[in-house]
Amino acid sequence: MRIKLLYIVFAIITYLSYFGSELWACTPLEQLKKGNERYVNNTLEHPNRSLERREATSFIQEPFAIILGCSDSRVSPEIIFDQGIADLFIIRVAGNCLGDLGRESLLFGVLALHAKLIVILGHDQCGAIQAVLSGNTAGFPALEEHIKPAIKNATTLHEAVQSNVLYVEKEIKELPLLKELLESGQLQVKGAIYDLRTGAVSFL
Ligand SMILES: [Zn+2]
Repeated sequence: MRIKLLYIVFAIITYLSYFGSELWACTPLEQLKKGNERYVNNTLEHPNRSLERREATSFIQEPFAIILGCSDSRVSPEIIFDQGIADLFIIRVAGNCLGDLGRESLLFGVLALHAKLIVILGHDQCGAIQAVLSGNTAGFPALEEHIKPAIKNATTLHEAVQSNVLYVEKEIKELPLLKELLESGQLQVKGAIYDLRTGAVSFL
């Protein structure tokens, strides 16, 4: 009886040593949350930045998430999520709006590279959103065209940043080419706001 029990324990340990990492693997969203936690707590690991990683990904990329973020120099996704080479497929444009090129880049990331998560990443004190909110958009017609309808009910910058993220999230969720993946749960779309001072990303 005791020997049988030992065999069972041995089998479980062997199984877990081979497949444990897969069993406990993070979801893409958890992976981003953990990376941001490291950034906030100043315990960065700088994963996947080795020579080996660079060489291993030179012919193929499989980013686990797509980030549609603002061009703001203080909101670099690889840094604030503590990720490395070939982890994130990133689209950055002032005010993190979608637009035609953004939409096609995003579709490429999902349909060709099989990313499982899309994050629309806004941030506080966004200059692009502030410009549109205050009607100060001379010379930036495209920015106004994309952001104005998204923030039409907002009165403060904080509200405008959030409603812009939610607006883009809705736009993405309505893309016909993503319908099946979203309905089957193979793709997730999340809005998020980055706090410039604390470094924390809050998912909406
Ligand atoms: Zn911004």
